Amino acid sequence: MQTHTLFTRKSPLGASRKLIRQTFTAHQGKPVQRVSFVSGLHGDEFEGLFLCHRLIEALRDWRERRPEIFRGEVHIYPAANPPALNSATRLWPFYAADMNRMMGTQTGQSVPAQTSRELFEDLKKHSDWVVDIHASNLHLKELPQVRIIEEFSGTLLSPAMQTNTDLVWVHPMAGLFESTLGYNLNRLDIPTLVIETGICLRLEQAYVDRLFHGMIHLLHHLKVLGEIPEEIPPTQPPRLVYPKQVGQACAGHSGLFVSQVKLGDRVRKGEVLGKILNPVEGQILEEVISPGEGLLFTLREQPAAYSGAPLARIALDAEPEP
Ligand SMILES: [Zn+2]
Repeated sequence: MQTHTLFTRKSPLGASRKLIRQTFTAHQGKPVQRVSFVSGLHGDEFEGLFLCHRLIEALRDWRERRPEIFRGEVHIYPAANPPALNSATRLWPFYAADMNRMMGTQTGQSVPAQTSRELFEDLKKHSDWVVDIHASNLHLKELPQVRIIEEFSGTLLSPAMQTNTDLVWVHPMAGLFESTLGYNLNRLDIPTLVIETGICLRLEQAYVDRLFHGMIHLLHHLKVLGEIPEEIPPTQPPRLVYPKQVGQACAGHSGLFVSQVKLGDRVRKGEVLGKILNPVEGQILEEVISPGEGLLFTLREQPAAYSGAPLARIALDAEPEP
């Protein structure tokens, strides 16, 4: 394994913050393909960091014991936003800047803007494929899933099906994606899979386990690994959903959301998913009803909800009737 320091920045009090890339080269000659993994763009998301640890540990071991299986090159950027990870905040501290909204054609001169640019250029230079790993925000917990913007689904679908996630969700483009890493790399024909899993500030080890197996299958699918080591189990193909197959339940009232289902449950149409309470008056304001039958893949973890807040998403077994 080769360790590259992309750059070092000093904090105002002198501590060094480094952005590191770990590289595993092909065993012989030119790599058939180069795949990069990025995690920690948001500093309160730790599942990707743990997934990168699992990848580095396994690849280092196989590179020593079975170098011949390395036909391509793997780059891992485990901690893409070091200052935010050090303070466990989503945004780059001091600037309150979101690194995943500073990619592409951004020209700012702040330290986070420069860092985003340098990371983006390094990825462009070293990658044929990229996997960008995120955890969810503070409010919603997610089953492991790949999110794909419709216009890129032609290239991304088949590798996404290797990732051992529960779901591949193909959705339309929206303005907020314009400055993300995934959108900008895909636009430059560097196919990039964006993974969402779990919830920020936590580690769901079982999800990371599954994703780890999925990433090894993905590396094999992309011909970077000539074979899948025997300790990696087979994977299950995810369920593929398009926008009409995603049902959402939102809060009709502001109140305390108390769920009575678990993430990953199969739910029926009309089933009660939880209640919205007015705890001060001791009232039940609302029963939250499932909009359809299917797999519960998003569930609100943060109980305080304003009216209109998303509470649950369901991958519907059937498209709703028009
Ligand atoms: Zn994120």
